[in-house]
Amino acid sequence: MASPLTHKLEGFGVSIFGEMTALAVSTGAINLGQGFPDYNGPDEVLQSAQSEIASGNNQYPPGRGLADLRAAIAEHQQRFWQLSYDPDTEVLVTMGATEALASALLGTLNPGDEVIVFEPLFDTYAGCIALAGAKMVPVTLRPSASGRYEFDSHEFHTAFTPRTRAILLNTPHNPTGTVFTREELNTVAEAAIKNDVFVISDEVYEHLVFSESTHIPIASLPHMKDRTITISSGGKSFNTTGWKIGWACAPSALINATLMAKQLFTFAGGTPFQAAIAKGLRLPDSYFAHLAADLEAKRNLLSEALHAARLRPITPEGTYFITCDIRERRADGDGMAFCRSLPEQCGIVAIPASVLYDPRHEAEGKHLVRFAFCKQLATINAAAEKLGNWK
Ligand SMILES: *Cc1c(COP(=O)(O)O)cnc(C)c1O
Repeated sequence: MASPLTHKLEGFGVSIFGEMTALAVSTGAINLGQGFPDYNGPDEVLQSAQSEIASGNNQYPPGRGLADLRAAIAEHQQRFWQLSYDPDTEVLVTMGATEALASALLGTLNPGDEVIVFEPLFDTYAGCIALAGAKMVPVTLRPSASGRYEFDSHEFHTAFTPRTRAILLNTPHNPTGTVFTREELNTVAEAAIKNDVFVISDEVYEHLVFSESTHIPIASLPHMKDRTITISSGGKSFNTTGWKIGWACAPSALINATLMAKQLFTFAGGTPFQAAIAKGLRLPDSYFAHLAADLEAKRNLLSEALHAARLRPITPEGTYFITCDIRERRADGDGMAFCRSLPEQCGIVAIPASVLYDPRHEAEGKHLVRFAFCKQLATINAAAEKLGNWK
């Protein structure tokens, strides 16, 4: 029998995360590969889900999501970012940001369309663009002299063609930790307007931003709200990544296109968790400030330990990932081989960043590896100690 796999997904590998997690288990190494917290979210949110389940709120929610959650999402957009959305027509609840992204891409793209994406990139972007029959046009973020990953604006501008239909943005950016500045966002926004394309903006780390930076939703820039689908999720903000409650906010025409695809995937789900995330979105400002401050302390700890171990960390401005340039420790700069031997040599698991680049650009990320620091303080301290003892 011929290969059962659709041509559209040919060439997509199996995720590296399985291999690295298996290595962590077999060697007993500390797993800083996986990007999810090993600690719980706020009690109010957890207890809300439990009482919703106990009280019988367990059937399908409305296709667009529970009205109370849509109201809470709209309130949250107004409270933090001064963006106003109509909860009835401009907000859509999804099964995680992942489904919002897939639905936005599959609901809007036509075969042959081009989508400009900054790489390294989140693992589902490329596959969804391919399933839509569209073409991904990557623009590389590279570590600059100023110590953060940046794009070259000439490269960005030359990525546009008459077939460009959308820009897929992610800020704060996984895995580089770049929080796009107003100036960078202006470059993106002006190009979106000039080329008449829309923007899909993945902002799942909107609250995980450190003291030197500020998150700016691109929808808040002049004339951008009309052409932007802003996507986020409760997973990163409330340490509930397994609940998969995400959302999209956009003008009704873009929400309707997204909904057309979304209703074919899950239709709707996660009713008791939707109710609980509504509680989370209404938590006081102090909750969100503390969440970021706690992570910032962990970032600083791990960053110092990586630096002392001569792993040249590129300090993230947001998210819960740190990338490192390994070339001082490993002259051939082979991040994949480095990550395969790190558990044995140092007792820590990391992810080679090369897998997060377009395969044609793998070399851009060959010498970069990613560590996650959304772990208990004791875990971060133990990892720092192992890095300190590593000869
Ligand atoms: C975690 C993550 C997502 C997925 O969010 P879910 O709500 O878990 O589906 C999307 N984009 C980025 C950049 C992420 O890091």
